[in-house]
Amino acid sequence: MDPIAAASVLPALGWAVHSTLLGRRLATARRDPLTGLLTRAGWTTAARRLIQRAPGALILLIDLDDFKSINDTHGHAAGDAVIATTGRRLATWCHRNGTAGRLGGDEFVAIATDLDVNGAVAALIETLNEPVPYADDLIPVWASVGYCRLADLPVPTLSNALAAADRAMYQAKGSSRRNAGPFGELFDRQFLPAPGNEDVVESGPHVEDPPF
Ligand code: GH3
Ligand code: MG
Repeated sequence: MDPIAAASVLPALGWAVHSTLLGRRLATARRDPLTGLLTRAGWTTAARRLIQRAPGALILLIDLDDFKSINDTHGHAAGDAVIATTGRRLATWCHRNGTAGRLGGDEFVAIATDLDVNGAVAALIETLNEPVPYADDLIPVWASVGYCRLADLPVPTLSNALAAADRAMYQAKGSSRRNAGPFGELFDRQFLPAPGNEDVVESGPHVEDPPF
């Protein structure tokens, strides 16, 4: 290549490299390093996009129960392993029908479409509650799951669905304390749908969005 042609190509090449690196940095910022799941901002963008195609989507919130005691009993690295495994289990459950995210700490979020809701949520809870192998231990894990179908809301926005799922999750958590009863009963009570007739709500994870 002659020097004049090379001089004209170099700036374009520089910009291409710059945009690629910037794109990678932005993509990394949207991923949680421990689980590889989307962060809150990345998940919100992905969920809004999915809702355009699937207005009946299911929104789920998951929080591990008594997670601090896993850190206290088995150590922080074991806690990390439990979070990473929970993230993997949730992503596998979503598969191609949705997207999972980590909101922070032991709190996760997911959107899923094309489901037999009752069967799918029961299967998710069963998977999340499987003990996590770590070193020579099997660490018991319990997850509270709350969910809400957008189509069941009078004002079907992502923020309303998240708030309803949040309330259902805390309701499940409130009734699923380990000393609350035998396992079968615990499982039934963890399996709580969100109330379907909520008005616009102001509590729960905050996501601003207009009705779609
Ligand atoms: P609850 O049953 O009410 O949900 O209580 P909890 O013990 O699960 O505790 P909570 O959800 O309130 O807090 C989660 C704890 O998780 C707080 C923090 O010490 C710990 N934590 C947050 N992020 C990480 C992490 O990345 N790794 C580990 N190992 N621990 C974390
Ligand atoms: Mg917790």
